[in-house]
Amino acid sequence: MTAWDAEVDVAVVGGGACGVMTALRAARDPSLTVAVFEKSTREGCNAAISSGSLAAGGTRWQAAAGIEDSPERHAEDILRASGDEEWRPVVEALCTAAPEMVHWIADTGYPIELGTDMPRAGMTARRLHTDTGRQGGARLMRHLRALLERRDNIAFVDEAPVTDLLGDVTGIVVSQNGSVQRIRAGAVVLAADGFAGNHALLKEHLPHLGTPFYGGVSTSTGDALGWALRLGAQPRNMGAALRSGLVVVDHGTRVSPALPFNGAVLVNLHGERFVDEESKGYSSMAGVLRHQPGERAAMIWDATAMAATRESEMMRECLAAGAIHDRPTIEALAASLHRTPQQTEKALTPLPGRRHLTAPYHLAWVTHGLLATQGGLVIDPSGRVLTATGDPIPGLYAGGGTACGLAGAHSDGYLSGNGLLSAFGMGWLVGNDLATGHGRRRAP
Ligand SMILES: Cc1cc2nc3c(=O)[nH]c(=O)nc-3n(C[C@H](O)[C@H](O)[C@H](O)COP(=O)(O)OP(=O)(O)OC[C@H]3O[C@@H](n4cnc5c(N)ncnc54)[C@H](O)[C@@H]3O)c2cc1C
Repeated sequence: MTAWDAEVDVAVVGGGACGVMTALRAARDPSLTVAVFEKSTREGCNAAISSGSLAAGGTRWQAAAGIEDSPERHAEDILRASGDEEWRPVVEALCTAAPEMVHWIADTGYPIELGTDMPRAGMTARRLHTDTGRQGGARLMRHLRALLERRDNIAFVDEAPVTDLLGDVTGIVVSQNGSVQRIRAGAVVLAADGFAGNHALLKEHLPHLGTPFYGGVSTSTGDALGWALRLGAQPRNMGAALRSGLVVVDHGTRVSPALPFNGAVLVNLHGERFVDEESKGYSSMAGVLRHQPGERAAMIWDATAMAATRESEMMRECLAAGAIHDRPTIEALAASLHRTPQQTEKALTPLPGRRHLTAPYHLAWVTHGLLATQGGLVIDPSGRVLTATGDPIPGLYAGGGTACGLAGAHSDGYLSGNGLLSAFGMGWLVGNDLATGHGRRRAP
């Protein structure tokens, strides 16, 4: 018999995007007690260092901007990129939830605007929503955690890593201040992100990435995966990741994904243009850069492209870090590339229909990085964790990076906005389910 130290209706493992949204939605039912156990807000969650861009199709901001879009179109874009038809029910559930969820976030007092200046490869409509002022995910997480504090029936327990699942998901083990607590729970939600911060798991599942720069948080160590697999849960698409081909060498900041859509070109160490820059998402571009000489290339753009992108939080960080170099003339640019001005002019020749870059130029050496994993547990569209026979494990849910993501089997299938969609979106669905009683099982 387990001796319990405390009892809650809903225990959430991880207080990042998925965990906070799950708690906020579940706690709308005042009869529920919800506890979020967070490993360390000091070390942080990926949502707080993300760009905070929320993909949603069919929102009021899109309607106001005259942009035609819908959850169905959003889902088709994701599935076209991933090729993962088997995952369609999950993708459709998330895309259907997305506009309602983004409206709700705005209605709680968060200043949202449509990123009409945020084109992305594979996205057939402008549908990334961001905060006005473009401060990124940190601002969004601060806002959501402040909402959490206002709820009497939610406890947010920080510096309290969960270390195990108990019995047949009747509770969890939490380590806090050197002591071990056993918490009994009606439902457990695994919202502890993926395993990009775990070298052993990366080596096992993603050896093809080589040794990329890691741009995520240290807390993503895949803790929840092992516990769930032991109970019969299934791993899926473990070789997929959210990568970035926009990481600035020696700085670790990222240039804006909108640059290629404003004429920016990539030139490798041999002075060659090697890719149609607009044709690749940033995750897919990482794979291309990995196979270039020196695993890097110079991204080159001009004042027009700079004006169109400089207000993003990514470009502000690059500028503050001194990661962007100014080159006033083609001769100065050529010297940086160790080429002649003629060779450099040739490399900058625009592809059909694209802008011609003009001096002065800006340059950043970019390489490939890993931001987050996309493989994880098999769930159903309500976030219930499934066994090999497709049966839900009673009382066990997963979302965000702990669950299988939306990129399909490979990192190339990642569409911008997928990460927060599966984290906030699944938190929304699971929390709603728990609040209405559908997802709740009898107290253990
Ligand atoms: C640099 C960067 C930029 C990104 N930009 C975007 C973007 O603009 N749009 C987008 O859609 N996606 C973006 N992503 C991806 C997105 O941030 C993630 O997909 C998303 O945050 C995953 O949400 P999550 O809730 O699963 O994990 P997180 O937000 O990382 O939260 C997980 C939480 O679980 C905690 N935790 C871990 N283990 C334990 C444990 N054992 N016990 C208790 N707590 C635990 C962690 O400390 C953390 O707080 C970006 C990622 C990075 C790294």
